[in-house]
Amino acid sequence: TDRVFSGIKPSGDLHLGNYLGAIRRFVPLQDTHQTIYCVVDMHAITVWQNPADLKRWTYEIAAAYIAAGLDPKKSIIFNQSQVIEHAELSWIFNCVARMGWMERMTQFKDKAGANSENVSLGLFAYPSLMAADILLYKSTAVPVGEDQRQHLELTRDIAKKFNHDFKKQIKANGHRGDFFPVTETMAAGPAMRVKSLKDGSKKMSKSDASDLSTIYMMDDADLIAKKIKRATTDADALPSEEAGLAGRAEAENLVGIYAALANRTVDEVLAEFGGQGWGVFKPALAELAVEKLAPMADEMRRHLEDPTEIENILRDGAGRARAIAEETMQAVRAIVGFVR
Ligand code: ATP
Ligand code: MG
Repeated sequence: TDRVFSGIKPSGDLHLGNYLGAIRRFVPLQDTHQTIYCVVDMHAITVWQNPADLKRWTYEIAAAYIAAGLDPKKSIIFNQSQVIEHAELSWIFNCVARMGWMERMTQFKDKAGANSENVSLGLFAYPSLMAADILLYKSTAVPVGEDQRQHLELTRDIAKKFNHDFKKQIKANGHRGDFFPVTETMAAGPAMRVKSLKDGSKKMSKSDASDLSTIYMMDDADLIAKKIKRATTDADALPSEEAGLAGRAEAENLVGIYAALANRTVDEVLAEFGGQGWGVFKPALAELAVEKLAPMADEMRRHLEDPTEIENILRDGAGRARAIAEETMQAVRAIVGFVR
């Protein structure tokens, strides 16, 4: 069966975008694929992380995975730094990928800002580590948000170039065809992009400085209601069909969030709310968000009370991940010509 890999960085509190764009989509894949879900702590440190926060957020993501419905028996759940093969393969990929490819990455440009002189070398090489995460397990489906599309394309480019550069050795080592899979559709299912509540042109992010722009998975009911109430919108009523949202980024975002949480289409939501103002829609959205998020937050809190339970899950997952990763690396080392 196909393998699924995805990960989240312990770089801040989890938010609605992480849930709708990633975590929620992980759950049903457990029944159709071999699923591997990672807490990518090595990615997190590409920008400065306070070590105590890094730990706390690592536990938080593991707790969210479980609270959202991931089963540690069905899925492999672990943190990246416990499987050192991720670092090993990413180094080899650093030597396969080209500077020019990395320079074109919009996430790097966004995160580095105007002055890239003073960001870490790791931030620049980020996509190469991400390619290693995915290809170490020869994964072909990668459920990530829309913002990761460019990185997935780069993963394909790295797989192709490795397969090409080492074509002879791959064959000589007894592998038939390509060594790494180069799938055309790496995203699994439609990816959702949740925007900032304060600026419809920006995605909701863990690292956003403005707290009112982000709904966190562990926010309480009052805070969720307050943030939705204060969300930026235009003054117009809601349209009665999706086409009417064109050019209204903030409205589109809130309706999209409602539809995703309610498991309905945007048109279905607008059939109900079309013609209504924000004074009606926002309280309805707040109520729905609380209904969906509060039980999960409660369960996350329960799991966070017992760190040893989470540590055991991560250690067990790391062992199972490592068995697959080590098999890939033995072949890669031989292909590259490393003597053992
Ligand atoms: P950071 O600001 O530190 O980059 P982040 O919120 O972007 O944090 P990541 O750990 O980079 O979170 O991403 C984890 C997963 O969540 C990825 O699959 C990513 O595509 C998805 N994701 C992040 N933000 C959003 C969003 N606003 N809408 C939908 N999916 C998102
Ligand atoms: Mg991100």
